This record gives sequence, structure tokens and C-alpha cells, in this order.
Amino acid sequence: MSMQCEDRERIFLDGTPEEWAALEQHAAFCTLCAEELRAWQGLSTAAAELRNYRDDPALWTRISASLETPLVEQAAQNAAREKRWAFLRFDWGSALVWQTVLAAVLVGISISYGLFMIGRMQTDDLRAAISPRYAAMKRQRDIPYLASFEYLNSEPSVREVLILDRSVPAYYSNKAYIKPEGQWGERSVPGASTSLEVLQKARQLGVTHVLDVVSSVSDFQVKSPPAGLTLVFQSAEQRVYRVN
Ligand SMILES: [Zn+2]
Repeated sequence: MSMQCEDRERIFLDGTPEEWAALEQHAAFCTLCAEELRAWQGLSTAAAELRNYRDDPALWTRISASLETPLVEQAAQNAAREKRWAFLRFDWGSALVWQTVLAAVLVGISISYGLFMIGRMQTDDLRAAISPRYAAMKRQRDIPYLASFEYLNSEPSVREVLILDRSVPAYYSNKAYIKPEGQWGERSVPGASTSLEVLQKARQLGVTHVLDVVSSVSDFQVKSPPAGLTLVFQSAEQRVYRVN
């Protein structure tokens, strides 16, 4: 039997087996009808499956069970998780909690400050190691009256140094020295109550050179050099005299 494209919709609705066979033959040559036929067959298959599901009373029980089981398991897991992290739920109103938090913050700050200071010190040393000029500057800054000590230590005629100022640290001196007034005011020369009195006895004491400085405790003590002293070295706030 022959058929036209127009017959397609009617055959879909209530076609006889002969009409369906004719539509399939026609679809072998008509692209449009072939497409429509495939779509209709797909729909029919889906409809048949739906009808089958509806006829199966156990289906919804199975679906329901497969949906609910994970939900129940998940609920149990959630409860367990909640229990595990319960200690994190602080009582933020409690003073103890705030004290603990404050202590932790303070410890954190001290550690950070310590690391910062260590970092700074190391940076300083590192720069000194890399730059000879910076090392010299650092030495100058860290060793008081470095220039005078370098002169006194390197000058062969220096045998014994009289350090007039009590605040000058003498441990940079490689030569023997007399310090009539110690760091705390103690006197090391019997019979002399001031540095200038010691200065008058310099020759007797075997002193070859005198270090006079401006410090936090005193100005230059030798105002105008007496006949027995000759200025042999001077730098910023420091003078070295030779005892003639
Ligand atoms: Zn057609």
C-alpha cells in the first residue's frame, strides 16, 4: 500500500499493522518521516517503561529505601562529626577562655618579637661579614674610642697608658695601663685622689702615654697640656699625649 507524509500522524495514533509497515517502508526514503518515526518509537519505549514501573508495587519501596539509607547513614556520620569537634565550641563568655586566648596571643607576640630581634642581629652581623666598610663602622660604633686604642696598640713606643676617664673600657688595650679611677669610682693609685694628681706622678709611675677623652661623665681633663705632655694623636672626642 502507498502512503503520504500527511498519513504519518494518524498512523502514530491508530495505525493498523499494515499501515505501520507501509510507514516504515516510506521512512526508508523520506528523511523527515524517518526522524519522526525514531522519535515516536523512543517515546513509545519510554511510555512502556513508565507503565511497567507503575505496575510494580515494589519499585517505590526500592527507590525510597535507596534514597533513605544514605540519609540515615549521613545523619549518623554528622552526629559523630559533631561530637568529634564539640571541644571547639568554647564557652566564649567564660573568663578562663579569654585568659587562655590572651595568653596564647601574648606568647605569640613574644616569640615574634624574639625572632624579629634575632633576625635584626643576624642581619647586622651578615652585613658586617659582607661589607668591610660596614664592619669597620660597626666596630667604631661598638668599641668606644677605637681610634685611640688602635693608635696605642700599634705604636711601639707605648709601654704604659694612663687612662684618665673612669668610663673608658680598658679591655681593648694590648698595652699595660693605669686607670686611677675605676668604672665605679674606685682608686688604684695610692696617694692620688684625682686623675690629674696621678697625671703629675705619670713619669714616676712609668707611664709613657695618656689617654684623655670626652665622655658621659667628663669633658677633656687636660685643659692645656703641661710642659711634660705632647699631643701625639687625636680623633673625635679623644686625645693621646706622650709623656716627655
Ligand atoms: Zn514522509
